[in-house]
Amino acid sequence: MSSSTTSPCQFCAIAADTAAASRVYEDKHVMAFMDTQPATPGHLLVVPKEHARDLSELAPKAGARLFRATHLIARAVRASDLPGEGAILFLADGAAAGQEVFHVHMHVIPRSKRDSFGSDAVWAKPPRAELDRVAASLRAGLSALTEVTPLRGLSSGS
Ligand SMILES: [Zn+2]
Repeated sequence: MSSSTTSPCQFCAIAADTAAASRVYEDKHVMAFMDTQPATPGHLLVVPKEHARDLSELAPKAGARLFRATHLIARAVRASDLPGEGAILFLADGAAAGQEVFHVHMHVIPRSKRDSFGSDAVWAKPPRAELDRVAASLRAGLSALTEVTPLRGLSSGS
């Protein structure tokens, strides 16, 4: 049934147990293991076992399972003895977004107030008109998804 035995995908290799990983969680569909270049102690990856390059290839049900496991892992971070009063959940979808391994994965990065995590992001505060324009673009994107029912009370045209 597995077609990944000759795949060069490193996460498929972990799913097939032919590559090493420091595993944290596993169920029938999802696994979680430590990132090998952690941003903070406890930084791990939550990964669907079935290969999907990015979100455009990920089935909605697989996405739901991915988030359910991510939620569980983020709660586990807080319940652990690692420094982590909170966590960043972060999924890079596509090369333009910084995705480097092309098998969908969610980062769970434990955060504490005094950790060394940093970001070069510029947290701009655009004017409302710009926010509205972007929101309209996103609603149009939602409308293009066949499985999504348009949100009531949000018109995409005005
Ligand atoms: Zn893969």
